[in-house]
Amino acid sequence: MSESTHRKKNPSGGCGSEENLSPVENGKKAFSNKKELVLASEEELVSFVKSAHEPSYRAKQIYEWVALKRVCDPDKMTNLSVSLREKLKEAFACCTVKVAETRSAQDGSCKLLLTLADGESVECAIIVARDGRNTFCLSTQVGCPVRCSFCASGEHGLVRNLSAGEIIGEYLACCSIIGKSPDNVVIMGIGEPLLNYDNLVCALEKICDPEGMKLSARRVTISTSGWTPGIRSLAKLGRQWNLAVSLHAPDDKTRASLIPGKFRRDIRDILEACKMHREATGRLLTFEYVLLKDVNDSKEFASRLVKVAKEADAKVNLIPYNEANGGFSRPDREKVNAFAAVLERAGIPVTVRVEKGFEADAACGQLRSSAEKRRKK
Ligand code: SAH
Ligand code: SF4
Repeated sequence: MSESTHRKKNPSGGCGSEENLSPVENGKKAFSNKKELVLASEEELVSFVKSAHEPSYRAKQIYEWVALKRVCDPDKMTNLSVSLREKLKEAFACCTVKVAETRSAQDGSCKLLLTLADGESVECAIIVARDGRNTFCLSTQVGCPVRCSFCASGEHGLVRNLSAGEIIGEYLACCSIIGKSPDNVVIMGIGEPLLNYDNLVCALEKICDPEGMKLSARRVTISTSGWTPGIRSLAKLGRQWNLAVSLHAPDDKTRASLIPGKFRRDIRDILEACKMHREATGRLLTFEYVLLKDVNDSKEFASRLVKVAKEADAKVNLIPYNEANGGFSRPDREKVNAFAAVLERAGIPVTVRVEKGFEADAACGQLRSSAEKRRKK
């Protein structure tokens, strides 16, 4: 199925939609009433330069800085006059995301702690594979309302949704570090992306705009804890983004001990929503499965997972638990391998997530948790 056949109008309205599909309160407001520069269309820039009494070709220059050169700081837009740069800063919210801290692994992967205009913080990461390909891992919320018992991101619930501009800001911050666009983007940082649906879709539409930042939609994977209303909305939207569902257990009872009830959906409902997504987009499905010692890591669980993965025609990505909250521990390597072997023998494509060897506190959500603790001291 080609991308162009799916470039129909976003039924949720996309950027600037009145109706927000997300069932969580965007409690705290992002920052200012100004339009974010990274979201401005060429038409909006044309009317801006007109009001600034500048020639209309300036609009194209500004658009190109952001979309093609991936620069959102007016001070770096060297072909604009200083006065136009100042007017741009007055008219639009620019550089709403700043890199506060980086933690590097030996293979070149790095985690970034980002501060937002209101002082909140999130993380994102650049993961470098053995073949040198870069994957950006982006966050969608400050905190997370789902509050899975093993996850640092959800420990204190949701603070606020990230705006679409902030999600793009994370992407641009990563681009500026590696000096180019990534090979892949995974929405697997802090937050439940489908509970910030409109802003997520708006940001990804911009990042994947064939006239703009040009990342192929097929290189994007959205990871969800299984929020089926959001999976169905993605299916209706029909974009070529890949879907990853954090299953963590082959049965609802075990899942319920890991994911609290408010945003948890039954496995049956998840399978139906995934089927709808597959039929609408043709994209592959991955189940993510955090392996927790003596909770969901036995061969018996693996055999039951085989049945669910077969029914969904899904790959499985095993994630040995990273030390966080909840009093869980990581199974040893033999147990992880034995679990993977059961899936492999049954013909399920399986990968085991490799540790990146970041320094302390660099697992998902932990850089932010440590920064928050320091802030509150
Ligand atoms: N909220 C989304 C995406 C972000 S989390 C989701 O849950 O899918 C990305 C992945 O990291 C999820 O599969 C999540 O379960 C996993 N994860 C969270 N905390 C973890 C931990 N302490 N150890 C290992 N994996 C973890
Ligand atoms: Fe939220 Fe995902 Fe963490 Fe669960 S695992 S608390 S959904 S970020």
